[in-house]
Amino acid sequence: MVGMPTSTTVPVSVPMPQIPRRRRSPEEVAAAAPVEGPKRVLLAAPRGYCAGVDRAVIAVEKALEHYGAPVYVRKEIVHNRHVVSELEARGAVFVEETDEVPEGELVVFSAHGVSPAVVQSADDRNLRTIDATCPLVTKVHREAVRFAKAGNEILLIGHTGHEEVEGTYGEAPEATTIVNDPAEARTVQVKDPDKLIWLSQTTLSVDETMETVKILRERFPNLQDPPSDDICYATSNRQAAIKKIAPQADLVIVVGSANSSNSVRLVEVALEYGAKAGHRVDFANEVDESWFEGVATVGVTSGASVPDILVQDVLKLLADYGYADQEEIVTAEEDILFSLPKELRAKLKESGDSSARPGGRVKND
Ligand code: SF4
Repeated sequence: MVGMPTSTTVPVSVPMPQIPRRRRSPEEVAAAAPVEGPKRVLLAAPRGYCAGVDRAVIAVEKALEHYGAPVYVRKEIVHNRHVVSELEARGAVFVEETDEVPEGELVVFSAHGVSPAVVQSADDRNLRTIDATCPLVTKVHREAVRFAKAGNEILLIGHTGHEEVEGTYGEAPEATTIVNDPAEARTVQVKDPDKLIWLSQTTLSVDETMETVKILRERFPNLQDPPSDDICYATSNRQAAIKKIAPQADLVIVVGSANSSNSVRLVEVALEYGAKAGHRVDFANEVDESWFEGVATVGVTSGASVPDILVQDVLKLLADYGYADQEEIVTAEEDILFSLPKELRAKLKESGDSSARPGGRVKND
């Protein structure tokens, strides 16, 4: 049986987008490719919401409650279509850049973090700001500043164009070079191989990052490691959980959005560790029933920005197709909570609002 969801959920007020097609019945799917042996689901735990996402979503919810709509949010607060739509329905306005926000209005910076240039641009427009950057991203920013100030060159392992990488790079652009993958590790040029440190995006594949570092170290033996892991606990734990399930799975379904780095990585890791097939979906109705043909064991997980209600929708669909035997595979317990952004804590205190635990979901949620 599936235990309690490990992550919290955002109330649903936005319906799942409808996909206009006729779904084949379980009998039709079974006739196309019969399944040998019992059908079952292995559900990864931990999965879904991490502490940084939880905090960022609460920050927007609480800003709407205490300042009223509209509350502007630079970029998607977290990379999940459902969460963004739900907050939009409540009055959040998502913009790409601060210059789209009217002067003097309130803007929330997303969990992925911003560069100092973005903070300056908000200041120039007299915007009021709430910084919902995940503290684990802020930690990487601080490392970048500290090591650059000490005269080091930084090799930032991460994906060019990802918001988090833009923010970290922006802390010390003159000292930082982005290394996207092992192939770039083989060709990147540095100024001084003896004053070199690597940092990374928080949501990468643990294995691929280690491979990239190995190549860099072969080329630059004096390369320094970061003081602690930059790939965060949530990314590592979700990858470890799916690694355990993947070798037994004929199919792995990852719930998460296409722009969610850690969700996309989960599909890659599942395939790498032996899943016969792997797919990412935003919503249950994107699951194609042809994926079930001949499939006995389905692994299910979700990215760190995914409310568990979306996973439960997938589990219901799986049960309809005969995968009612659902077992949770627990590889780690998570109890990390982060304090809400300081600007918001001050506002909540002023208003006498004690409904949000420090860093956790709203009570009774
Ligand atoms: S995935 Fe990691 S770094 Fe990103 S918001 Fe969650 S805890 Fe923070």
